[in-house]
Amino acid sequence: MTNPLLDDWTTPFETAPFNRIEDAHFAPAVSAALFEARAAVARIAENPEDPTFANTIEALELADRRLDRVLGVFFTLAGADSNAARQELQREFSPKLADYASELYGNKALFARIETLWEVRDKLGLSPEQERLLMLTRRAFRRRGAALTGRADARMRQIMSRLAELGTAFAQNLLADEAGWRMALSEEDLEGLPGFVTNAAREAGRAAGKQGPVITLSRSLLVPFLQFSPRRDLREAAFRAWAARGAGGGGETDNRAIAAEILALREERAALLGYDSFAAYKLETEMAKTPQAVRDLLMQVWEPAKARAEDDAAALTEMMRADGVNGPLEPWDWRYYAEKRRRALHDLDEAELKPYLQLDRMIEAGFAVAHRLFGLEFKPVEIPLYHPDCRAWEVTRGGRHVAVFIGDYFARPSKRSGAWCSAMRGQAKFPEVQGPVVINVCNFAKGDPALLSYDDARTVFHEFGHALHQMLSDVTYESLSGTRVARDFVELPSQLFEHWLEVPEVLTEFATHAETGQPMPAEMLDKLLAATRFDMGFQTVEYLASALVDLEFHDGPAPADPMAKQAEVLAALGLPRAIPMRHATPHFAHVFSGDGYSAGYYSYMWSEVMDADAFAAFGEAGGPFDAETARALEREILSAGGTREAEELYLAFRGRMPGVDALLDGRGLAA
Ligand SMILES: [Zn+2]
Repeated sequence: MTNPLLDDWTTPFETAPFNRIEDAHFAPAVSAALFEARAAVARIAENPEDPTFANTIEALELADRRLDRVLGVFFTLAGADSNAARQELQREFSPKLADYASELYGNKALFARIETLWEVRDKLGLSPEQERLLMLTRRAFRRRGAALTGRADARMRQIMSRLAELGTAFAQNLLADEAGWRMALSEEDLEGLPGFVTNAAREAGRAAGKQGPVITLSRSLLVPFLQFSPRRDLREAAFRAWAARGAGGGGETDNRAIAAEILALREERAALLGYDSFAAYKLETEMAKTPQAVRDLLMQVWEPAKARAEDDAAALTEMMRADGVNGPLEPWDWRYYAEKRRRALHDLDEAELKPYLQLDRMIEAGFAVAHRLFGLEFKPVEIPLYHPDCRAWEVTRGGRHVAVFIGDYFARPSKRSGAWCSAMRGQAKFPEVQGPVVINVCNFAKGDPALLSYDDARTVFHEFGHALHQMLSDVTYESLSGTRVARDFVELPSQLFEHWLEVPEVLTEFATHAETGQPMPAEMLDKLLAATRFDMGFQTVEYLASALVDLEFHDGPAPADPMAKQAEVLAALGLPRAIPMRHATPHFAHVFSGDGYSAGYYSYMWSEVMDADAFAAFGEAGGPFDAETARALEREILSAGGTREAEELYLAFRGRMPGVDALLDGRGLAA
């Protein structure tokens, strides 16, 4: 039986032949590709010839190429258009892929060849990109414990398997706590809530098999309830349950002891690998590099944010007094009075705004900005795709092929939530030239025409910014291409691109009314831009409190009692009374249900500091479309992928490291 996943692809641009791929093709293709990858790795490791860059590092680059190709297709479908069969396959593949990875990184003969190459790297005549690939390969092996032997090696395996168990338990406890709480509301309790909140509460009631409406701990229901409910007693009850999730009321789902054990094991893991702390281990691969650099940057934002939050708290307290409520402003009061204040200051009617933000025109706007900045052109093309809602464009420059861009914008039950960008095929020139195939996936409501909120329009620009990072990539090795950069750097191109949505001439041209075709009125545009800065003191403070606690948990000895440590850090910061951490320890899933964002929650703000600072470079040079700055952005950042250290890339673009001024300005926090 032929398997289209394993055949050469003869479609235009050699994209995946989705019209011929069936779910039954995946398991045999993944097995065959894994078999091929294992055989290739074994050949490299057991090669009797002395190691060379070509027979070791380049050969590794090619070993799992077919596996990557097959998985690129599979994970696109598993995320954007899943079904029961694909979910089952995903469960089946995940341990197989984990086994392959641990075999690869545990292969001592292979690691010995890499170490040998590293020792003689100066004599190998490598290009800077090749030396970087060697360094990153070696570092990835060492960070996974490849250099450990004997008892240390055995202990590392124990730690990793225990950490995996604890991470899963943390996530499951949190889910159980969230699912286990609901507050029934009477018809009277609904008074003052807008239609979308009462509808969501009724829907949640039906889903829970109740007669009437309920409030659950789902963020999308709970936060609007805190924002709109005039009933202070109900807000307090809902807030207290929200704040306590993951602590399990001290019962079986209590995550606090789990958090302590995770922190202790991470400290031990870092020590075995030779790092001063888990934060030092995590930050080694990041632009920030050291815990002190993170702390310095966050603290520069903390004081202005806190000052703004304190001013806002005073204004909100006054509003509360006018309602006849005494005592201090509490966490369950903030969102309610802030919402009232927002309506008073920036009354922006979503229903009036939406007709101006048509999906197709926002896609066009992104393309137009990419054309003005980088000379890219986008032409619709017919290629086999996996869903009728998907569309594709060929991206060219000066008549030359650059990339294929696919957009899959509408929500459907088979798609996971959120929005993302991925490369089904990354850019490379080794072993031959290959153009990237890049996809943006979003979850917008369908309509004729499809209309967006302002946040949705930002999402279109954000994901398209990631896509540009992939499409403009110009490197030799696929594993260094596009978005394969440090985590605290990867959001720079995407967040930076969002700024062009705020450029008035872009909105004037592309935010046209769906029925009248008229551009958005200037007054609406001003209100819109002002509203994006509203309540930034609160948002910045709740985020920074979490980021700083995360950092202090991992920098230095692991705290025996994380809750005490959390309290100590917050007291030292002087966290305003009415602002809780965005994620307190027992429900800080970013940090504890896996180690993706551990000692890394700061990275959202790190990127935001950079994107604001990078966009300011355009303003300083003469405007948002300054050609020289656009060329520098492409040359130093968008085309470079992971071929150089993030810090070097940024310095080459900006001439200096990012400062926080533009961010403070953008968030309206500047003094
Ligand atoms: Zn992003």
